[in-house]
Amino acid sequence: MLGMENSRMIYQFSSLLRFDDLVHVVTSARFDQYDDFNIADHVGLNCESAMRNRRLVCDSVEINCDRLTTGQQVHKTNVAVVTAQDVGRGSEGWGSAIPETDALVTNLGDTPIMVISADCLLVLLYDPVQRAIGVIHASWRTTFGGIIGKTVDTMRQNFRTEPGDLIVGMGPGAGVCCYEVDDPFVETISSRSEILPFVVRRNDTQYFDLPGAVRSELVRSGVQADRIEQMNRCTICDTNFFSYRRQGKSAGRFGLIASLR
Ligand SMILES: [Zn+2]
Repeated sequence: MLGMENSRMIYQFSSLLRFDDLVHVVTSARFDQYDDFNIADHVGLNCESAMRNRRLVCDSVEINCDRLTTGQQVHKTNVAVVTAQDVGRGSEGWGSAIPETDALVTNLGDTPIMVISADCLLVLLYDPVQRAIGVIHASWRTTFGGIIGKTVDTMRQNFRTEPGDLIVGMGPGAGVCCYEVDDPFVETISSRSEILPFVVRRNDTQYFDLPGAVRSELVRSGVQADRIEQMNRCTICDTNFFSYRRQGKSAGRFGLIASLR
């Protein structure tokens, strides 16, 4: 994971930078002089600046903001296959985004897809063989619901992606250092025995290892462990990112944007 120019506080996965036909970026709460760099127009304190902020970050890495395609994230497991008629849905904000969509995949060039978060993990899947990408909003709920496997399967069915070919970046998100959970949460999680081990106990408190759970879901879906790059930044304790746990309703959103050239 490389940080680009320090004042910008945007990030790229070093394992994905070597591919000429892919462009991607992970944003944070900061960019140049802005210290509340919210890219969601429907939540957060400075949501009226979201469209300007999206354009600034897209321009900085040469992503075509006018064709930016997003979903209305609702913590469900629907995966949108972005086709020509979907291009640009959400580019004018939440109202025009694809409804009930927490993951998007596409094989179209010049078609940036985006997911946003304040604590949830954002995941980028890249298939260099069939030339296709996917982005996932991996909350505990979507992860528990199987969104990782569903997204990999959707790429397999639509683009003939072999999961073993995928190169994956896992962005910032709630870390096991801070992500405290309660008994009802653990009870819910316990119905999936593969996820339950990612509840860990320290000093009589329970924490959920969301990145660990997402990583194991990726591997279970056929992704090779050594092709997963983890950013390892916890949004709850790292104030360079937005956190719903830390900031509540005033939390803006950071994002992951990816596009085939
Ligand atoms: Zn932390």
